[in-house]
Amino acid sequence: MNEYALIEATRVFKRAVPLMVKYKVPTTPHYFSLWYAYCAGTHPALNRAVDAIVKKGEFCTVKQCDDFIETYLLDDATKELDTFRQKVQDLAAGLGSSMDTTMSNTEEFQDILNSSVTKLEDVKNRELQGNESKKITHDLLQGSQDLLAATEQYQLHVKAQRTEIDQLKQQLEDYRKQATHDALTGCLNRRAFDIALAEHVSNNNGVCLIMVDIDHFKLFNDEFGHQMGDSVLKIVANKLEQNMQEVATVYRFGGEEFSVLVTDVSIKGAWLIAEKTRKALERLSVTDKRSGQKINSITASFGIAALETGEESASLLARADALLYKAKENGRNRVMPGFR
Ligand code: GH3
Ligand code: MG
Ligand code: MG
Repeated sequence: MNEYALIEATRVFKRAVPLMVKYKVPTTPHYFSLWYAYCAGTHPALNRAVDAIVKKGEFCTVKQCDDFIETYLLDDATKELDTFRQKVQDLAAGLGSSMDTTMSNTEEFQDILNSSVTKLEDVKNRELQGNESKKITHDLLQGSQDLLAATEQYQLHVKAQRTEIDQLKQQLEDYRKQATHDALTGCLNRRAFDIALAEHVSNNNGVCLIMVDIDHFKLFNDEFGHQMGDSVLKIVANKLEQNMQEVATVYRFGGEEFSVLVTDVSIKGAWLIAEKTRKALERLSVTDKRSGQKINSITASFGIAALETGEESASLLARADALLYKAKENGRNRVMPGFR
């Protein structure tokens, strides 16, 4: 945090806490985030809503604070995740209560069984009276039937819950995938790339970065429309993965750029991989189903740099980018490795 940001944060903090005390809001980190946002003025709509409430009185209830946080501070993804978390909690609670019912039925049956066994032992040595034996049999039968019904109910409940658990698992998997994958191409996304590169840097791994940029991509959009542009992106991503995924990891870096991380390979090794992929891209073609028009001039330029000892991510990226730029300058559709 730079000096200015620190002064600003302190100023906001000094305003937020007294307001929380004034409006009798619990001074927990959760509610502090709301009042910090209010004092920082980052969400004007939030400020208007809070002002309207506090103008009426001295209080801002916890419920109101929760509503403000939900409406103004949580983004859609967080809200979805919260709903998901709530569903899992409801599910666990549902299973628990159904289990409780079965357990209590089991306990009741056990009581009946115990008292019947005691009675049976009691009458073992004497002649069993007709109504006495009838009563024991009746109790045992009733208890067994109750337990059976409760168990069947529980089994049905578990079956339904299992289906719901499977759906939630799938949903969780989808969320995970959304966080790390690009929706259009299915490649790993920029976020996944940043994390992977930071890890390579902190572990001082031997890694090469290949930056790939589709040549004159804007022309495809301009001449054939955005949808055809998207198709080109998908087919290029697919080809990159096909050619590289056994030895490297492909990410959509942004727009029509991809980044590739290759571990334990020299610049020369990475160059060979890039060159093979460049040739494979040259052979690609995309046909517009409506007009029948064909794009068969897809090429890309490549810049390659190897991570140096102690080098930061930004510096490696800048070097690979500069080499990619050189490849463009030299006529595109070529690989520019950064030999030292
Ligand atoms: P160069 O050879 O110098 O790289 O030229 P270029 O046309 O490929 O590069 P430029 O940066 O001029 O244009 C890239 C275009 O990519 C601009 C942008 O509208 C388009 N683009 C970025 N993301 C997407 C996308 O997801 N789908 C489509 N269809 N177009 C995209
Ligand atoms: Mg570009
Ligand atoms: Mg381009």
